[in-house]
Amino acid sequence: MDSATLDAMRTSLRGPVIGPQDPDYLQARSIYNAMIDKRPAAIVRCADAADVMNAVNFIRDNGLELAVRGGGHSGPGLCLVDDGVTVDLSPMRWVRVDPAARTAQVGGGSQLRDLDHATHGFGLATPTGIVSMTGVGGLTLGGGHGYLTRKYGLTVDNLLAADVVLADGSFVTASETEHPDLFWALRGGGGNFGIVTSFTYRLHPVDNVGVGITVWPVDHTREVLTWYRDFLPQAPEDIYGFFTLFTIPPGPPFPEQLHGQKVCGIVWCHTGDPDRTEDALAVVNEPAPPAFHFTAPMPYPALQSMFDELIPTGYQWYWRGDFFDRIPDPAVDVHLKYGENLPTPLSLMHLYPVDAAAHRVAREDTAWSYRDAVWSGVFAGVDPDPANAETVKQWCVNYWEETHPYSMGGSYVNFMGQGEDQERVRATYRDHYDRLAQVKRTYDPDNLFRANQNIRPTQQY
Ligand SMILES: Cc1cc2nc3c(=O)[nH]c(=O)nc-3n(C[C@H](O)[C@H](O)[C@H](O)COP(=O)(O)OP(=O)(O)OC[C@H]3O[C@@H](n4cnc5c(N)ncnc54)[C@H](O)[C@@H]3O)c2cc1C
Repeated sequence: MDSATLDAMRTSLRGPVIGPQDPDYLQARSIYNAMIDKRPAAIVRCADAADVMNAVNFIRDNGLELAVRGGGHSGPGLCLVDDGVTVDLSPMRWVRVDPAARTAQVGGGSQLRDLDHATHGFGLATPTGIVSMTGVGGLTLGGGHGYLTRKYGLTVDNLLAADVVLADGSFVTASETEHPDLFWALRGGGGNFGIVTSFTYRLHPVDNVGVGITVWPVDHTREVLTWYRDFLPQAPEDIYGFFTLFTIPPGPPFPEQLHGQKVCGIVWCHTGDPDRTEDALAVVNEPAPPAFHFTAPMPYPALQSMFDELIPTGYQWYWRGDFFDRIPDPAVDVHLKYGENLPTPLSLMHLYPVDAAAHRVAREDTAWSYRDAVWSGVFAGVDPDPANAETVKQWCVNYWEETHPYSMGGSYVNFMGQGEDQERVRATYRDHYDRLAQVKRTYDPDNLFRANQNIRPTQQY
């Protein structure tokens, strides 16, 4: 992009326009996953919705490629585009809580920690993900699942409205009553339909929660996972537990003799009376005696940020996902094999529950098409050292390939990784794909918003 074009863009915007010659360019194009190395021609830090409208008009009229940055946590780095323009919403981090109505309106560039902090002040919360620096933008538009999902559903099940800048530069509000077709598509269809400048969520009474971590040596994976797969789906909705394979980090709350050990484990969130968490989780002794079991009451935002320090921004990540409705014995054996061979200390596998309250929403009510899934699985090869990028990638791909036959065929759109193709997008949306393509034709017929897991406006894909 020539300097005249950059200057022209600057005049139409209040927020800064950062080009490759600017000193903060390197920092502005840095994202959570350091495996991604893309060089936009410009990064536009939007101050408000007016900036977003101006940016969209400018980018479209000049025939430039457009990407949108919320929290910058997308695994494949979809918030950056080589030689195009990133519309960066990071200045738009604000939250307004209405405690009487139990709602929160949230700026489109906010992170989960902004939302959790603001709502916790009123003893309220809404379901989101489990790492507090994740953007509400990408997480919500993909569906959003986390510790409160069994009790209160997906993030999109609690979305009441969204303010959106469309491809033609116009600004609309989407809700059950305004642009309901767009509102349906935004609840799971990703960033395909416009740039959301604010989200409005329903809140629930959540204050302190009971947190638990239980681990067993990895060679107990067979007993533990077969017990967990039977226990979790029939557990009370106040009990949320995601299953994980990981390596014990060298620090509290884990005792020193476990540091560096490969384990299987469950991370619990108990939304019932926190004083009863220990009793509610006494079942953990059933599969085998745990090597470590810890419970404590915690403010909900503390649980939400529990993993932040372990996996800060700037590490190498390669991930893939799949939905599961059952975990048959041969699949358990695959998990044991890859758990025993975690390639680096931070590589992991998580099975996040998406049942209970998330199953009570009808499949046709939102774009999220896996209401029959019990778990959203993610296989993530992670390491700080770029020299290990290929190792973590190979482990992830091999693991995914061996468990895929036991999956439901598609993955959570937000767990799609680098290089996954249109067949995988189709597998994510199943028979919702054609309805999404119809909405795309209405709101973005020229596919301006295509730096995402793309829904094509045409019939062909
Ligand atoms: C460490 C880690 C933990 C995670 N844990 C969870 C979890 O517990 N639960 C869960 O559901 N997901 C989880 N995720 C996945 C997460 O939901 C996705 O990575 C998501 O894309 C992140 O959104 P973002 O805004 O930070 O990303 P970005 O990279 O900024 O954006 C991702 C996509 O969303 C689009 N987008 C973002 N904001 C907007 C907006 N306001 N308007 C229009 N389009 C927008 C972008 O264009 C891009 O296509 C996790 C990710 C990481 C890295």
